[in-house]
Amino acid sequence: MENAAISKPGLSDLYHWDRTLVWHAFTQMADYEPFLIESGKGCVIVDAEGREYIDGVSSLWCNIHGHRHPTIDAAIREQLDKIAHFTNLGGSNSTAIRLAKRLVDITPEGLDHVFFSDDGATAVEVAIKMAFQYWRQRPNPRPEKTCYLAIGDGYHGDTLGSVSVGGVERFHAMFQPLLFETLRVPAPDTYRTPPGVAKGDLCEYHLQKLEQILAEHHHRIAAMVIEPLIQAAAGMIMHPPGYLRGVRELTRKYDVLMIADEVAVGFGRTGKMFACEHEAVSPDLMCLAKGMTGGYLPMAATLATSEIWRAFLGTHVESKTFYHGHTYGGNPLGAAAAMGTLDVFEQDHTLENLPAKITRLSDRLARIARLPHVGDVRQRGLIAAIELVQDTASKTPFPWEERRAARVCDFARDRGIWIRPLGNIVVVMPPLAISVEQLDRIAEAVEQGIAKIGD
Ligand SMILES: *Cc1c(COP(=O)(O)O)cnc(C)c1O
Repeated sequence: MENAAISKPGLSDLYHWDRTLVWHAFTQMADYEPFLIESGKGCVIVDAEGREYIDGVSSLWCNIHGHRHPTIDAAIREQLDKIAHFTNLGGSNSTAIRLAKRLVDITPEGLDHVFFSDDGATAVEVAIKMAFQYWRQRPNPRPEKTCYLAIGDGYHGDTLGSVSVGGVERFHAMFQPLLFETLRVPAPDTYRTPPGVAKGDLCEYHLQKLEQILAEHHHRIAAMVIEPLIQAAAGMIMHPPGYLRGVRELTRKYDVLMIADEVAVGFGRTGKMFACEHEAVSPDLMCLAKGMTGGYLPMAATLATSEIWRAFLGTHVESKTFYHGHTYGGNPLGAAAAMGTLDVFEQDHTLENLPAKITRLSDRLARIARLPHVGDVRQRGLIAAIELVQDTASKTPFPWEERRAARVCDFARDRGIWIRPLGNIVVVMPPLAISVEQLDRIAEAVEQGIAKIGD
């Protein structure tokens, strides 16, 4: 291939290479159709042929303040004029240090130490390994605590440790032979409730299930991993109020660490900065990624309590060091993007502006809920899920081969709205910076799409 052809390829070359050279994530490459985005501004993205779309799922749940936000752009440029990268292994840089301080200040009380990595999955791996090592090294060691407790249908990323604690059958079943042991409690799903359990008793029912497992196995459980309030990738499964708080109380009672995976729900998504705040919960370990850099650069953090941190302190010969790291952990450009992102929360009053948008989305969802084949609409903050079912009374799903929700998304895309489904669920998860007018346009396309494709 000549250089000229690579530096200035035609669109058809790009499409061809995109189909044949690039192996896309979670994508069947045999029938992949290129969707090539070249630019973006605010909540609008623009494809290679100049078509505009409203970014209805925040470039996969990570964009918060829109694309090309001047404050974040400037923060990265300023950092670029200093240094792009320096290692976190025995070294540091002031931007990452300041970010660590800021994260400690805004996260729930007790999380006073920050380990940086690159992605949500790595943030979870770090938490899993820290929990394991903690029990071996703390003053009163309990090395028999080696297994994990997680929620059925949980999703924590795609590396083997995070897949081990994950439980989405369709993604994870293939890799079963490679995974370590994880105990599971059923997802406290407020839509598909167990037979005979009334909505008002759901939380209590699931906390009892949890307590049974903890009572029986706590001596060997290192940590419980949970996506607070909402299990995102499982299909935006929403937990009953009180469950998170109950998990915190029970994990304390049975001396099991609590890992809160706020990768999807952190940074304002649920209406508060962190989902744990809704139930005044302080976990022992907290994982952050996706929205942390406003959807600009890969960066993640695992926050830990001082009790965990202290178990890793010692002389060199004691070998208590956490032997784990990622080359780009604490990357200054990523840290600058994260600092810029947090600045925008203050400058643009992001959280203060949310309630009006959340209410508007609720109003629109109420209309969508009346359409045929809409089994459930659920919402928390600026996360909305519309579940399409064959039969609403029995909640029977459509056969997945029919790609109902995907077809609604295709319909919306033809009308300038970019959204992505999860199975039979249409997801709306726009940047927090979305305008009410843009929200209306997304809802309009979804409503029309469901009316058309639902039948
Ligand atoms: C997306 C996600 C992850 C994985 O994050 P990556 O950055 O894709 O590795 C982990 N946990 C939750 C809850 C997520 O939604």
